[in-house]
Amino acid sequence: MRFLSTRDEHTSVSFREAVFRGLAPDGGLFHPATDLDLKSTFLELRPSVTFTEVARIMTAALFPEELSGEQIERIVSKAFPFRPELRRLTDGVHLLELFHGPSCAFKDYGASYLAAVMEEFLAGEDARAVILTATSGDTGSAVAQAFHGRRNIDVVVLYPSGRVSPLQEKQLTTLGGNIHALEVDGSFDDCQRMVKEAFLDEDLRAVMRLTSANSINLGRLIPQVFYYVYAFAKLKEHVPGELFFCVPSGNFGNLTAGVLAWKWGMPVTGFIAATNVNDVVPSYLETGVFSPRSSVRTLSNAMDVGNPSNFERLQAIFAGDVEAMRAMIAGEVVTDEETKETIAYFREKENVFLDPHTAAGVRAAQRFRARHDPQVDTIVTLGTAHPGKFGEIVEEATGARPEIPKRLARVLDLEKQATLIANEPESLKTYLLERFGGV
Ligand SMILES: *Cc1c(COP(=O)(O)O)cnc(C)c1O
Repeated sequence: MRFLSTRDEHTSVSFREAVFRGLAPDGGLFHPATDLDLKSTFLELRPSVTFTEVARIMTAALFPEELSGEQIERIVSKAFPFRPELRRLTDGVHLLELFHGPSCAFKDYGASYLAAVMEEFLAGEDARAVILTATSGDTGSAVAQAFHGRRNIDVVVLYPSGRVSPLQEKQLTTLGGNIHALEVDGSFDDCQRMVKEAFLDEDLRAVMRLTSANSINLGRLIPQVFYYVYAFAKLKEHVPGELFFCVPSGNFGNLTAGVLAWKWGMPVTGFIAATNVNDVVPSYLETGVFSPRSSVRTLSNAMDVGNPSNFERLQAIFAGDVEAMRAMIAGEVVTDEETKETIAYFREKENVFLDPHTAAGVRAAQRFRARHDPQVDTIVTLGTAHPGKFGEIVEEATGARPEIPKRLARVLDLEKQATLIANEPESLKTYLLERFGGV
């Protein structure tokens, strides 16, 4: 499989190149150059298939020229010591829980697969890489966890001092080893600006291989396709009518991955794009006009995105045809009020805690189902984060506090190790040269 930039239909790159480049040279995003037809593979999957098996089958189908069977085996077994759980939530609505990984959110899937893939590619050529990333909290911890202990890779993570939660800070700063936390005396925007400048710096590029691991990286998108296929295999014999997936969305990476599964032959009726009031994609579906704007703060803050970065990929998949996109994707907008109601309702009725992002998805699924055909539809809603990560909001809605999973709580007792630096590109450059310049 080769990949093209969303902005240039002529130069294709390998998976390896797409992974290390992150962004295409013209600023576009990489997307599959050709259509695959894996329908018969999907239909043959047994309901007892494991997640690792799905990951192996899919990786082999996608990259037969680039990865050997042995490499694929190493990648999927290292990447996925955790797996999704599919459970029935209520009539016709299932939850695909994607929060059983180290950072308790679905981003673990992408980060972990990317880390394993990069480690495998680097081992083959005896090279080292420095991953540079800025975080406002969650993404950085998924990346740090995923790359911890990987050979030939160092991770430098910048975070704004005093502006991440205490738990997030501990997640970033207590791993040690090849994970280096830089506490920046500034804002998240400063962190991002410093990272951007470092990538452009010729002095740095001359002495080290800098690479990114951010959410637009194709190596993070591909593994997100696997859990849709996994859910399909588990459910296909039990769905009486139509099958939908409902995806709580921000940057629309998760939804794009689902649409790719469909493009590659997975039988599914459609997708529901659930957003909070940051609703540029639902508005696009309604009006045909895409108008990005500044984001508004909500309870589901990982979905507070005013200019979703994966929209460009979605458009490429549908060749810019809004009608074609509408035929496959329905938009549903959920307010904070509805999110809280939904959290409270499911705690009371089903004794289940939902985090605010998953709750927005569940609300969207219920509304869609009521309007569509409640007799026959099955909707799988993606459970994107563990409710224990958002204990305060959940407690406010329900009066009870969900437990923080042990793997998260444990870091609270560990000692923070971070290097404080000023919010100037020069201080990051000095740090990088001192630390990695001699490699
Ligand atoms: C990142 C995130 C989302 C949004 O996912 P996208 O792929 O950016 O649309 C939803 N929920 C949680 C908990 C997240 O961390």
